[in-house]
Amino acid sequence: MQLRRPTRQVTLGDARVGFVQIGGGKPKSDGTPTTPAPVTVQTMTAGYTYDIDACVREIHKLAAGGAHVVRVAVPEKKDTDALKHIIPQVQVPIVADVHFHFQRALEAVEAGVHKIRLNPGNINDREQVIEVINACKARKLPIRVGVNEGSIIERRDKQKRMKELGAVFSDKKHGYLLAIMIAKLEEYLDIFYEQDFYDIVISAKSMDAALVIDAYTEISNRFDHPLHLGVTHAGPKETGCIRSIAALSGLLINGIGDTIRISYANDPIYEVEDGLELLYALGLRERKGVDLIACPTCGRIQVDLFTLVQDVRKQLAAKVTVPMKVAVMGCIVNGPGEAEGADVAVFAGDRRGIIYVQGEKVANVPEPEILDRLLKECLDFQGKVLRGEVKLGEKKVNITPPDPLGELGSGWEKIAGGLVEKTSSKPAQLTVGKT
Ligand code: SF4
Repeated sequence: MQLRRPTRQVTLGDARVGFVQIGGGKPKSDGTPTTPAPVTVQTMTAGYTYDIDACVREIHKLAAGGAHVVRVAVPEKKDTDALKHIIPQVQVPIVADVHFHFQRALEAVEAGVHKIRLNPGNINDREQVIEVINACKARKLPIRVGVNEGSIIERRDKQKRMKELGAVFSDKKHGYLLAIMIAKLEEYLDIFYEQDFYDIVISAKSMDAALVIDAYTEISNRFDHPLHLGVTHAGPKETGCIRSIAALSGLLINGIGDTIRISYANDPIYEVEDGLELLYALGLRERKGVDLIACPTCGRIQVDLFTLVQDVRKQLAAKVTVPMKVAVMGCIVNGPGEAEGADVAVFAGDRRGIIYVQGEKVANVPEPEILDRLLKECLDFQGKVLRGEVKLGEKKVNITPPDPLGELGSGWEKIAGGLVEKTSSKPAQLTVGKT
């Protein structure tokens, strides 16, 4: 993992909703040093902004799910009118997503929004852009300049233009698109610099993961503004997840990116959940809640692990706030090793579960009792952490086979040794394939 790339720092929010920093590492214009802020997760509401109560409910849900910043669409005046009533009711910085009508940006600023997003592909009248810049400058609001591949492709002379621009990045898969995005960005940002405005975040999204990586890498070499990473039109969650993670993790591990949005054709709460999980997985944010480890299962499985893991995940997500590591493992092959490294763990066999807390065995229960007992141990452990009686990540003893074989009884010991077939001890409700 590379160190985060230093950028200027942008701040959004206010005293009521709190302040969120994006980027950092370069000194402010007055010389005050900054350090890179933790990468933040953004998302966008899916409902109509003018439907005030529904919009407020959706923003509450996304903020409660962990979104650091929430963006809303403001296509019509009734949307920016609604913002005046929405913003005082929410506890997270709000960004107005503006396309085509620069007046919506001015109205959103008046309504008290915390940041504006402009698209150079559809708001490109110089005087209009300057009006928005000046309105934001007066309120100390940042602006995201978001060039989307889909909205900047020039239609006239397209073939000629593609040939000319493609030559600039001839070694890249979509060299002409990359060149258009960079050229558009440079041209647009010149307007901001002429107005002495530098509270800028840049994004350059595409649905092509390789182009996203190339575009942001190139932009990070050319500009020192913080970067908002994202793959646009990523598709349904099932495939969009892979597309987004491929592009974003490729950039983040190289120190590029200061705030992220994962885009799905689905409830945006999944964008928040998966964005946070990506940052946790890369060690870019301190985890809140459980780090759940589970094996994929195989022909050695002796309990209904898929159901157990989903039940554990749902219950712990609702009840545990400390970042404890919990392992749910199907058998003794990898169970003891994971149990040794986890704060709370269960590994199964012979339709029983052996439960460990920081490497110390606390229970050996039959399959129907595993879930309740594991949850009890997790909640007890959380209580001890909160009272300062134990520390996360410490272990008391080493677990080494063959001890677990003994715990599971002689029947399992024989199975593990390949001495008997396990047909007599198949789990009653094994639901392979059910998620
Ligand atoms: S822990 Fe056991 S059941 Fe789970 S995948 Fe590994 S060998 Fe298979």
